[in-house]
Amino acid sequence: MLGEFELIRHYFAAAACARAGGEVVLGIGDDCALLQIPSGEQLAVSTDTLVAGVHFPDPCDPFLLGQRALAVAASDLAGMAATPIGFTLALSLPSGDPLWLAEFARGLDAMALDCSLRLIGGDTTRGPLSLTVTVFGRVPSGQALVRSGAQVGDLLCVGGVLGEAAGALPLVLRQVEADADVAEHLLARYWSPQPQLALGEVLRGKATAALDISDGLLADCGHIAKASGVALQIERDRLPLSEPLRRFAGDAEALRCALAGGDDYLLAFTLPPAELAPLQAAGWPVQVIGRVMAGQGVQLLDAAGNEVAVSERGYNHFNP
Ligand code: ADP
Ligand code: MG
Repeated sequence: MLGEFELIRHYFAAAACARAGGEVVLGIGDDCALLQIPSGEQLAVSTDTLVAGVHFPDPCDPFLLGQRALAVAASDLAGMAATPIGFTLALSLPSGDPLWLAEFARGLDAMALDCSLRLIGGDTTRGPLSLTVTVFGRVPSGQALVRSGAQVGDLLCVGGVLGEAAGALPLVLRQVEADADVAEHLLARYWSPQPQLALGEVLRGKATAALDISDGLLADCGHIAKASGVALQIERDRLPLSEPLRRFAGDAEALRCALAGGDDYLLAFTLPPAELAPLQAAGWPVQVIGRVMAGQGVQLLDAAGNEVAVSERGYNHFNP
């Protein structure tokens, strides 16, 4: 088994994503990494922890875990319209299994290249398996997309098909089986989320508020509504539901996953109506699901405009 320093050197410092460059003046190997933020820009920072048995099944495929851990964290940069710079990795490991580490590092590296994120440091300790990823990005001063800017009259939009990762959970946990093509599609949405970094950057100066959907659409829209002091109305029939999930689990479950399932890692944002057509014409995945009204909270409406009662609103770790 490798010691702590050989482990860091071999699996992390040697990874392609650990090369310095861009804003990373000094990467792994000293007491701190050094970042050079261009003048006129602000540093965006976010941390996510994934705990074995809570956020992912244990055991699981370490390659997929590496991908997912970084994607989940990078998605917060997208939600803020930040340009990726780098990330740190705090790793608690029960053992230094070389095969596990090699696959984990390979998955991490693949997602890091996809997201243009450099590994700039971390911490390695022995303990129950858990991962903490802190991501750093940059955004022109004042142009970050915060949750508090939604305006009455804006459209409420999402960046793609909702609910697939949540719908994949019974497959992830091997509680059920599905046709190979459906299973492959849904499992990929769970294990390899694609943070909408490019969409986030394009929405700078256009969207009035944004976040990435991690806890479920209703719960996350509730954050925008509260922070902006507005109501968000979602039209049920405009929700982009997953065809594979409908086939696999039925319409009701597909809707439940879209509304209350977590793990989508797509953007939800509010947009002045005039911004919509140019974005869609340019091919950006912008789906209108509702609008911003005076009032508070999130309401789900049926085709006739009547409010639909929803019992389950999303994931909250400290809910009884
Ligand atoms: P210190 O004791 O000064 O905190 P460490 O011995 O923990 O430093 O780490 C040595 C170097 O390796 C540091 O640059 C740290 O950021 C980096 N590092 C430690 N663990 C990891 C990891 N899992 N991934 C990437 N870099 C790491
Ligand atoms: Mg340390």
